[in-house]
Amino acid sequence: MHFLKKLLIEHCPICNTILETKNSNVLSSVVIKTCPENHYQKEFHPAFETYIESYAVSKIEGSR
Ligand SMILES: [Zn+2]
Repeated sequence: MHFLKKLLIEHCPICNTILETKNSNVLSSVVIKTCPENHYQKEFHPAFETYIESYAVSKIEGSR
């Protein structure tokens, strides 16, 4: 699982703050990384070897 290491430090694409890691569900080993300002969230699912990115809608409304 060494590819997890490159996920250890990631930055918010909006404000460039280091994302906080929340690994509340150890059994399913889902790793959730969020911006402290709630701009951005990344949910990593090792079981599926995929991740889900979410942006705070209110922050990107202006670009639509
Ligand atoms: Zn941010």
